[in-house]
Amino acid sequence: MLKGLMMNRPLSVSSIIDFAAETHGDAMVTSSTVEGGLHRMSYRAARGRIAQLAHALRGLGVQPGDRVATLAWNGYRHFELYYATAGIGAVCHTINPRLFEDQLLYIVAHAQDRVIFFDATFAPLLAKLRDRLPRDLKFVAMTDRAHMPDADLPELLCYEELLDGQPDTIDWPELPEDAACSLCYTSGTTGEPKGALYSHRSTVLHALTVAVTMQDSMRSDRKVLPVVPLFHVNAWGLPYTSPLTGTGLVFPGPKLDGASLFELMEAEKVFSSWGVPTVWLGLLAEMRARGRAPEGLSEVVIGGSAASRPMIEAFEKEFGVGVCHAWGMTEMSPIGTCGLLSPTQQQLPVDAQIDIKCSQGKRVFGVDFKLVDDAGSRLPHDGQAAGELYVRGNTIISGYFENDGATQKAIDGDGWFGTGDIASVDPGGFLRVSDRSKDLIKSGGEWISSIDLESIASGHPGVANCAVIAKPDEKWGERPLLIVVASEGHTPSKEELLAHVGAHVAKWQAPDDVLFVEALPLTATGKVSKMTLRRKYVAA
Ligand code: AMP
Repeated sequence: MLKGLMMNRPLSVSSIIDFAAETHGDAMVTSSTVEGGLHRMSYRAARGRIAQLAHALRGLGVQPGDRVATLAWNGYRHFELYYATAGIGAVCHTINPRLFEDQLLYIVAHAQDRVIFFDATFAPLLAKLRDRLPRDLKFVAMTDRAHMPDADLPELLCYEELLDGQPDTIDWPELPEDAACSLCYTSGTTGEPKGALYSHRSTVLHALTVAVTMQDSMRSDRKVLPVVPLFHVNAWGLPYTSPLTGTGLVFPGPKLDGASLFELMEAEKVFSSWGVPTVWLGLLAEMRARGRAPEGLSEVVIGGSAASRPMIEAFEKEFGVGVCHAWGMTEMSPIGTCGLLSPTQQQLPVDAQIDIKCSQGKRVFGVDFKLVDDAGSRLPHDGQAAGELYVRGNTIISGYFENDGATQKAIDGDGWFGTGDIASVDPGGFLRVSDRSKDLIKSGGEWISSIDLESIASGHPGVANCAVIAKPDEKWGERPLLIVVASEGHTPSKEELLAHVGAHVAKWQAPDDVLFVEALPLTATGKVSKMTLRRKYVAA
């Protein structure tokens, strides 16, 4: 082999913000704030504040490799934390505030977070949990002195005071490109949440991939609004791809209802907005009430759960807003596919185009697909054969953070990652996700474990056997349905069982309905066949 003679510079997250400050310095980051009103700063100004924050983090004792947690909405300070932590070699650990309290405590402990930065909204939550959080955890409220929350938290620090007086320039340390830069836990698997630990290399490659794939939206004359949270897989990479391409970023803060999103999109002339199906229902209702789309809105990217045909039709046919349906996973940074049509497909009748858009799109560069059947044999990409989808690539985890057991289950002998999605791929490369082998329900973009619900329901004396499956739901995508075989001599009521389960879980995780059956169908290996139950009771 003859080796190439090219430089080998480590890819780094800080190079993205440096590049943006120099070449797209005037492009803006606009944020609807927790305090109220809009905040605006250019990428040039952001670079200065990020340098100040990086110095402040070092002042707090944050070392390379340390995890710095965030509990925050989509806003400029959260964006600054992404870059300041990564720039000094630390790791930005974004926490989903919608997690169960026990899960939240578990991941703070598992990640060994040193500091937690939080929006004032979450001060009561942290104050409630303070005695169960690690004793040496430092707390920083992401606001100025005038808006500091009145929270019972030890030695509470103020974000803007940390930045005050710090130099607004910094020479970033040179880090190996495989150094970790951010961490996101997924509850999209069974058991405790598992950490996907992204590297500088995977993050930069992902940003480049998204820039290439979405080249019509990610441009310096466009603005993009991530409704998808910064705590959900780095808002699908937008905080990196936007500065890289000079695309303006518009952060919605805590207000994600249809009217607030509509007004912000219109005021800022947002070109493209990204989010899970549930948030689009609110926006669509607002668009219908006003009889139009926000001025300037040309595209919505829908992912995280399947985009339904009525939703795609509403955006495209009623309002002329293009839909790009994407599929991905926390473990994939997250983008795996993109549903943009080829020039030939764009000539098809609208309904035929929508047929294609109902699929999950084509793989992006750098993500390889493999379909396998139950015996582990590879299946053809013929649009017919459906099997579990395995993926491989530089933006996909090679293992979970500090969790060898989960890693062994997720990665096969050839190094492919098993997605737990059942899918087919047609000869044109379009992926169609038809089912899920993982025992989970995705409601409004958040995971609910059917196994947890089953074990709670089984604790009721009237339940001999039970199963929880996902039932399609117009608003939430899926909702849990409890299917019960009653114990002999018992006739538990639906209300009684719902109250029993509801007493153990958050309201949004509790099943909405109970079905009573004589027996549960079993697979060849004697397990309850969820696939049969889904076909029988909730066929869409
Ligand atoms: P998460 O890691 O929470 O983003 O969840 C990833 C999982 O969400 C995937 O494995 C799928 O089960 C599901 N998912 C994501 N995007 C889609 C989509 N466009 N269509 C259907 N399911 C999806």
